[in-house]
Amino acid sequence: MRQAPIIIVGGGIGGLAAAIALAQKDFQVTVLERASRYQEIGAGIQLGPNAFHAFDRLALGDAARSIAVFIDQLRLMDAISAEEITNIDLTDYFRRRFGNPYAVVHRGDLHGILVRACETNANVTLRTDCDVVGYEQNGARATALLKSGERISGCLLIGADGLRSRIRQQVVGDGAPRIAGHTTYRSVIPTEQMPEDLRWNAATLWAGAKCHLVHYPLSGWKVFNLAITCHNDPVEAVAARPVSHDEVLEGFRDVHPRAKAIIHHGKDWKAWVTCDRDPTDRWIDGRVVLLGDAAHPMLQYFAQGACMALEDAVCLADELDKAQGDLDHALEQYRNARLLRTARVQLGARELGNHVYHPSGVHALLRNQLMREISLERFCENLAWLYQSPFPEPTSDAVRGGVRS
Ligand SMILES: Cc1cc2nc3c(=O)[nH]c(=O)nc-3n(C[C@H](O)[C@H](O)[C@H](O)COP(=O)(O)OP(=O)(O)OC[C@H]3O[C@@H](n4cnc5c(N)ncnc54)[C@H](O)[C@@H]3O)c2cc1C
Repeated sequence: MRQAPIIIVGGGIGGLAAAIALAQKDFQVTVLERASRYQEIGAGIQLGPNAFHAFDRLALGDAARSIAVFIDQLRLMDAISAEEITNIDLTDYFRRRFGNPYAVVHRGDLHGILVRACETNANVTLRTDCDVVGYEQNGARATALLKSGERISGCLLIGADGLRSRIRQQVVGDGAPRIAGHTTYRSVIPTEQMPEDLRWNAATLWAGAKCHLVHYPLSGWKVFNLAITCHNDPVEAVAARPVSHDEVLEGFRDVHPRAKAIIHHGKDWKAWVTCDRDPTDRWIDGRVVLLGDAAHPMLQYFAQGACMALEDAVCLADELDKAQGDLDHALEQYRNARLLRTARVQLGARELGNHVYHPSGVHALLRNQLMREISLERFCENLAWLYQSPFPEPTSDAVRGGVRS
């Protein structure tokens, strides 16, 4: 142990990954989670190769691969005509090009791996029922202020408390997140209930007018994840609200019956109103720093929010390790390393929503033509900035075997 403890507020994917990364570098870490147990809500999550570069750096690469379904394709369908627009082959060339696969995992499985890694590391203390309402810091120490009145101090406080971060409110003070005007409905169904002709080993996107549908297999093909989104201008930012089948259908009236069949097979739908924020460079307040959605919440159209949180965790631990006690310098280095990359994803996700996921009329026809023209090589070239490892050193746990489908 090298320092007074580092306090992490929030035990989501970002906070737990940061705890592991720091503990592996011999920092003592205390994670304060508001919920009464460590868990993830929602089912599937897509992970680009960059997430696996981060897992390799956390020595969790094999564990993450063991719970993943390695999809073979990103498939783009026109939700109005039901035509296939294009598909991107994610097998040999893609995996060789980026040194890691594109995969889908169950959030609960992923979170479980992170929780276990924390529980088995003596440098990590995990606490629950810790609702952090704010902080104090004096340039040398930071103190988390709990709703219960308890105060927990350390040499540094990391705000990893997600989209509606209390820590961000104090660091940045930019109010509530921006409601994007879209609602995402999620459901998970047993594979045998998925229409047989759509049981593809792919992350499939049906792009419609102001709406889209995504599906992919999960958990060793036991279930299919359905996540469908429409523009319906919600005013309240709800998360995981149970909704009726009819309410779900409302935003998808114009999609092809083949796409609508997917909705009919879903059940126990829950709604999330999607939100993001404009990028900011105010991630630091003395000994307090932001990470993950607290720093750079983004729309889901790049499927990168969790991937970015994982990368943040690795980068922050690297900088703190290198800084030999100069924490202020380390925080600046971390922010500078992460700012433009995450801003590019934040702003790019909005563009993807407008130009790929949700256009209509001629805009959609143009999308179809442009997407058809993109070769696999060009696709990989266009996304190399995102999927290549952002970390300077070679990965330490780079066991690449075991890619399965
Ligand atoms: C519909 C949808 C689809 C998505 N798909 C993908 C995808 O395919 N791939 C991808 O990479 N990303 C995806 N994302 C984004 C991803 O889910 C998030 O970016 C990621 O979960 C952020 O992790 P985090 O740890 O920063 O925040 P969170 O996961 O929000 O974790 C924050 C934690 O902090 C706790 N907390 C909050 N407030 C307090 C407090 N006051 N005190 C203590 N604890 C507190 C919470 O309980 C929670 O455990 C998607 C998001 C949405 C909405």
